[in-house]
Amino acid sequence: MPQDIVTINLGGINCYLVKSTVGCILIDTGISTKRFKLEKELERVGCKTEDVNLIVLTHGDHDHAGNCQYLNKKYGIKIAMHNGDSGMVERGDMNWNRKANPDKISILFKMISFLFGRSIKFDTFKPDMYIEDGYDFSVHGVDAKVVHIPGHSMGSIGILTTDGDFICGDLLINIGKPSLHFAISDINEANSSVEKLKPLEIKTVYPGHGKPFQMELFIKKYPCPCDSIKM
Ligand SMILES: [Zn+2]
Repeated sequence: MPQDIVTINLGGINCYLVKSTVGCILIDTGISTKRFKLEKELERVGCKTEDVNLIVLTHGDHDHAGNCQYLNKKYGIKIAMHNGDSGMVERGDMNWNRKANPDKISILFKMISFLFGRSIKFDTFKPDMYIEDGYDFSVHGVDAKVVHIPGHSMGSIGILTTDGDFICGDLLINIGKPSLHFAISDINEANSSVEKLKPLEIKTVYPGHGKPFQMELFIKKYPCPCDSIKM
């Protein structure tokens, strides 16, 4: 069935709606300080909260998971995510199940943890369901499936539609240029995840931060994805 990707930009953090004629799923929810903007944006793009069949989290970081508990409590929308990040949202600990690397990537990650994890309120919650690689969202009204892409965090997932649109969470970002996210828990896992994406015929990548970009151009430019984060 035809479906649209609608971007909801919450001040540098992207949430996405995958919309079909029978409803939509909301991918990520932004940071808690932007919850009223999120509600307004949903209204503006013509998505009533009762039409949101499911919230899907690309990963457990607080700038993506910050309004899950609120939306779940207020509207009863169920939350799905990979259990590799479950402790992050259940305990409010962004370091949960992440490797500590003594390199510059880890230092940047700690800065983000500080900015988003400790200084801004986070409502912990328990997801309603855990989803694995290959999980099919057609039961929730959209033709898309889960691709497990660990690297930024161990439970990171992407959502691939049958049209070749790929919502990648924070594995890849587009701040200045498309690249791996600078805060990576495991660089080998991140490289493997991009390798895993190559045969999937992805056309457009929709990152958690920055504008959409073409997967083909990214792969051509960076045969090894790790080169994209070299200064
Ligand atoms: Zn993140």
